[in-house]
Amino acid sequence: MIGKVYRVAALLLFAAALVSPAFSRENPRHPEWTRFEFTQVHMGTEFKIILYTHDADAATQASNAAFNRISTLDNIMSDYNPGSELMQLCQRAGGPPEHISDDLFRVLSQAQELSQRSSGAFDITVGPVVRLWREARAQRQLPDPDGLAQALKLVGYKNLRLDPLNRTAELLKPGMLLDLGGIAKGYAADQAIAVLEDRGILRALVAGAGDIAAGAPPPGERGWVIGIEPLDPQDKSATLFIRLHDGAVSTSGDSEQHLDVAGVRYSHIINPKTGFGLTGHSSVTVVAAKGITADSLATAVSVLGPWRGLELIKTYPDAGVLFVVRTGRGLRKYELRFPPSALLKPTNNF
Ligand code: AMP
Ligand code: MG
Repeated sequence: MIGKVYRVAALLLFAAALVSPAFSRENPRHPEWTRFEFTQVHMGTEFKIILYTHDADAATQASNAAFNRISTLDNIMSDYNPGSELMQLCQRAGGPPEHISDDLFRVLSQAQELSQRSSGAFDITVGPVVRLWREARAQRQLPDPDGLAQALKLVGYKNLRLDPLNRTAELLKPGMLLDLGGIAKGYAADQAIAVLEDRGILRALVAGAGDIAAGAPPPGERGWVIGIEPLDPQDKSATLFIRLHDGAVSTSGDSEQHLDVAGVRYSHIINPKTGFGLTGHSSVTVVAAKGITADSLATAVSVLGPWRGLELIKTYPDAGVLFVVRTGRGLRKYELRFPPSALLKPTNNF
């Protein structure tokens, strides 16, 4: 879901806020480095860039270039803007294959690969169903079952065909709608880090709400300290801190964006098999080498649940996951390679 005020992934927005006080003090051991922080709204959410450099002009120019890159990606991938490349492609669903940009091809390819590996738990063709649940949230009532059944007929990742040789995409059924809300912010964070690195700024972090990508650590530190908000946002003492560098972390959950009807909470994350929002109250945090991977895996694992989700993560050697779910007997935690030693160091020195 891109292009509208995006509340759910605030899980790590809080986390990003925690980054600030930890590093806003001058580091007496590294007086030559200055910490800069910039914020802009893109993809319907607040993107934050934190970086260290020696030169204020360089910091401003580099962060503007990184935000411009995110804005370009929003114009390509937004499902709110009818003029975006994605929506133009969808408007011609049912027609012949179409050439698409490298960025869009890359994101669609990775989404399709994950759809296969997750047996369809992650599925960007879920767009028609997502729209009905958005309306349902606005109206505070469940979607009409007939409408949902019709929308579900348009869902199925196998109806999106990609041709890597010709860089084309083909949507087999008229009415299909793609939704990159579970993957685009992670990709945007990766790309922003790449722009900063091209400009020689290596010590940087980019956070788009719950999707964070990091480069080299702050001067003299072993990583960026990131707080993962607990399942119950009131319980701040349960915040978990991780250290991250040269990698990415994403959290998916239903803490903020959901619909409550008759005592049941329906998440904005959809099970593509049923067309229903997930009903288990959970929070999934994935670390991976790239934001595009962490973001999409966090959404996929949310749908799969802890057992099948951890099985999926096992097939990604550089990824780790923390799955917290509320059960009748309190919170249960499942974790695999979390924090993975390659990316994170335990933070018991807080
Ligand atoms: P995230 O917050 O990254 O987990 O992404 C959730 C967003 O991804 C939703 O708001 C939808 O726009 C989209 N989405 C929902 N369900 C799925 C799904 N099963 N597969 C892929 N994208 C989904
Ligand atoms: Mg995601």
